[in-house]
Amino acid sequence: MRLEFKYEKEIEGTANARSRKQKQYRKIVSFLYDNGNASIAEIVKFSKISQPLVASLVEDLLVFGILLDNGVGESIGGRRPNIFCINPEYQFVVGIDINLHTLTIALFDLSNKLVSRVEYKNFDLENSLGYADELVNKINDLLRKKKVPATKVLAMGVSIPGLIDAKNGISFTHLTFHKDGLAVFLSAKLGFSVVLDNDARMMALGEKAFGKAKGKKDVLCLNLSNGIGLGIILNGKLYSGKNGFAGEFGHILIDPDGDLCYCGKIGCLETLTSGTILVRKIREAVDNGQPSLLSKYKGEGKKIDLRAVVDAIIKGDQFAIDQLNKMSEYLGRGLVTLIHLLNPEMIIFGGRLAHTGKYIVDPVNMVLNKYAMDRISSETEVVCSDLLDDAALMGTLSNVMKDI
Ligand SMILES: [Zn+2]
Repeated sequence: MRLEFKYEKEIEGTANARSRKQKQYRKIVSFLYDNGNASIAEIVKFSKISQPLVASLVEDLLVFGILLDNGVGESIGGRRPNIFCINPEYQFVVGIDINLHTLTIALFDLSNKLVSRVEYKNFDLENSLGYADELVNKINDLLRKKKVPATKVLAMGVSIPGLIDAKNGISFTHLTFHKDGLAVFLSAKLGFSVVLDNDARMMALGEKAFGKAKGKKDVLCLNLSNGIGLGIILNGKLYSGKNGFAGEFGHILIDPDGDLCYCGKIGCLETLTSGTILVRKIREAVDNGQPSLLSKYKGEGKKIDLRAVVDAIIKGDQFAIDQLNKMSEYLGRGLVTLIHLLNPEMIIFGGRLAHTGKYIVDPVNMVLNKYAMDRISSETEVVCSDLLDDAALMGTLSNVMKDI
């Protein structure tokens, strides 16, 4: 699918002339998107387009309303030049992060500013039309509240777990009910373009554009929540593989005699180390009388979930920390393989478990020290994300803007 700004739909002339004009406009708009603001002279220098043509293109873009004249800037000798920037409210980008139990919807303006963010906890992901309709209602609610009509939405980026064909906007794991795929379904309901991709890859894009992977070339981003996802940045670019399925790190074989995984295979990494397994182990132990800060949940008749486990770890709950340590052994062993294969400069932990910070980074580092070849692993820094729960959301913005 081709994403276009509103003004691009109004460019006149033959197909060739339109395409040439569009390219020239985009050069200017994307330069201003990356740099914030610039003078005509700076745009000429970057775009290698002649000064009179840049002046006329900028004039057009001002008339379209996508650029703003920001007044006069610093002089470098002579008259002070006018400075131009993108009109942040020309159009907006919607980003949604679909998780198994939580839904987050965000509205961004064209200066990457988060205009609004709504989080729905306990909104369990179901493969049903009812869920999708509710999703559409929630998005429309936000747009109505912020007085943004569908025509003012450039596109929506979606982050969703599971196997995704990003090119054709098809989700194979969740919300699979529509024959033309999820992106076509949502786009028809909402009235604007929709691009979607896997949550771990969206996290990686978010980290690359706005987080710790900024300016780095070879980075692995792990989504450590209920499952384990992996977004791979190689040579500065998101790596997706032939069909867009690269990064199914959670389903590499670790224990041939192990448990059945929900994917149908036996002994996947996710059957040994994931938020789901951690919660299950802790629940069972607490039910059997294991002393823990989480015991109070039993008394209150509440269910222990991943959020509660992470809170207990941060508060220093010895039993929960011990369980996380045990799981980190398998995670670390899996990472050793990735480090030996890919020689990344950084591994970023994201997702719910990344909130535990040193409690997950330290034991993983110990495993790396034990099993990885020092010359390779000593070049790899293991860190937790700064963006945390918003990494995938920021990635949806980056995913839309990279197409523009
Ligand atoms: Zn599996």
